[in-house]
Amino acid sequence: MSKSYTQIALVLAAYPLGEADLRLRIFSGGRGLQTVVAKSAKKPKSSLRGLCQPPSLVNIELAASRGGMDILKQGELLEGYLQIKADFDKTAAAAYLSELILAAQNDNEPSEGVLELAQAVLALLEYANRPSFAVRVFEARYLALLGLLPELGGCVGCGAKQEEKTVYLSVSEGGLLCAACRAQNPDQQGFNLSLGSVKTLLRLLVLPFDKLTTVGLSAAADNELGEVLGEYLQYHLGCRLKSRRFLQLSAKTL
Ligand SMILES: [Zn+2]
Repeated sequence: MSKSYTQIALVLAAYPLGEADLRLRIFSGGRGLQTVVAKSAKKPKSSLRGLCQPPSLVNIELAASRGGMDILKQGELLEGYLQIKADFDKTAAAAYLSELILAAQNDNEPSEGVLELAQAVLALLEYANRPSFAVRVFEARYLALLGLLPELGGCVGCGAKQEEKTVYLSVSEGGLLCAACRAQNPDQQGFNLSLGSVKTLLRLLVLPFDKLTTVGLSAAADNELGEVLGEYLQYHLGCRLKSRRFLQLSAKTL
């Protein structure tokens, strides 16, 4: 008999497999990403059906399979994120969050903090009406979890404090860059950013989640940070994020 185990996981994606099965991509803190099979889950009467619609937070029992995909046996839905599923902008935001987890996490490799962050941001998406704000929070804190956060304290080249109204963030150099260091390094890629947006970004990183609702995000800061953080993630993860396009299409003024 195969060994079984239970875990809390986030269902990130579901794909048809054969006539009646689904292949799921799930993420848990203890096992990282996994591909598992939900047998007969496409059938209308399947008890697994309700667990297989991304995004969903589930507590599931799986049968370990040697060399193959583990099998979803049963489970309970902890959070079905119905408000997210009912709203185009929120769905686009959740798809982007899922893609970022799929792009930067590894199969069967534990990863601390990612599930907790995803849960907190999905709750923000579900219960607050600021999808774009929730995405900025996820981008900022995910970069921090991945150890990829840009240097924001001063110039990454010489350490000089950057206090002009508009600063320059170099994506390839990994932080703020002063005019002199930028002139010495004309080939790097980056963006102009208002100092106000940098300060907002710092607040998104340090405030506890229950205090985040007090942070204002102007449309201008949202646009600037969205462009910089999205490009920054793509550059450092070495991939194009497909769902980012839908996010940009759905972007609206807060
Ligand atoms: Zn410098």
